[in-house]
Amino acid sequence: MAAKPFASSADLGVKEQTLEVLADGVYALTAEGDPNLGAVEGEDFLVCFEALATPVAARRWLAKLREHTDKPVRYLVLSHYHAVRVLGASAFDAEVVVSSEQTRHLIEERGRQDWGSEYGRMPRLFEEPESIPGLTWPTMTFRDRLTIELGGDRGELVLGFLGRGHTEGDIVAWLPEHEILFAGDLVESQAALYTGDAFHFDWAAGTLDRVKALGARQLVGGRGRIARGRDEVDAAIEQTRDFLLTMQRTVGEVHRAGGTLRQAFEATHTALAPRYGAWPIFEHCLPFDVSRLWDEFSGIERPVIWTAERDRAVWDQLQG
Ligand SMILES: [Zn+2]
Repeated sequence: MAAKPFASSADLGVKEQTLEVLADGVYALTAEGDPNLGAVEGEDFLVCFEALATPVAARRWLAKLREHTDKPVRYLVLSHYHAVRVLGASAFDAEVVVSSEQTRHLIEERGRQDWGSEYGRMPRLFEEPESIPGLTWPTMTFRDRLTIELGGDRGELVLGFLGRGHTEGDIVAWLPEHEILFAGDLVESQAALYTGDAFHFDWAAGTLDRVKALGARQLVGGRGRIARGRDEVDAAIEQTRDFLLTMQRTVGEVHRAGGTLRQAFEATHTALAPRYGAWPIFEHCLPFDVSRLWDEFSGIERPVIWTAERDRAVWDQLQG
């Protein structure tokens, strides 16, 4: 049997991007499993959520958004540090780039390596990579919560850190008025989870509980379709939790029995594939996911930094 191509390096199919209006002045872009984006109108400014992998890719989203509003971007909110979410930031000409303090620290600590890693894994998302001017640096950070007054009768947008999850510093953007949540990669709706930089135990318990407790009626996850209505929102959250708990069970069993990482990978693949195997980026993510969870079971507190070289080594060991 031929070896599987590395990560998403062979995925070259163009995805259709769809702008959806969730409420008056509230927008989301979905793209058949590619990273989602959001935007919220203030009275005389815009808040954008996520930035894609390059300025050229981000400009195509902005062109769609400009069919609805020409307000300037005051805030660009980064849900977390991953390259495919942040390196397009310069296209927004935002006054302020916002993230959690933790995300700023992660960019300092591992942003450069993550850029190389993600470019190798998902080259298709890096449209015209030479258009990236460098790492994206947040200019405003917060620890737990930041409220943006939208002006007029538009209410407020609440940015919140709800606990460690997909990374050490993920934040969500919550519109209480409309009960709309931009959850970033903390929730995936019918897309596989990337957990290679995750805190599986925090994420599956307290963090997702706090996401759920917001009581959103529309939820835009990191990838996949928009969940509409409480039932779909809860289903997306519980899908995310089930993926994490299934991994914890299978990797934990092999780890406790003194097995190998490879055995943990195979057991997890077998357990997850019937429900999640056909979803976007499943095969791509799983080796990195299991590797990180194996480290957590081994007592390694913070994720080991992924580099292009380490990516290949883990891939060859597990998917090769
Ligand atoms: Zn991510």
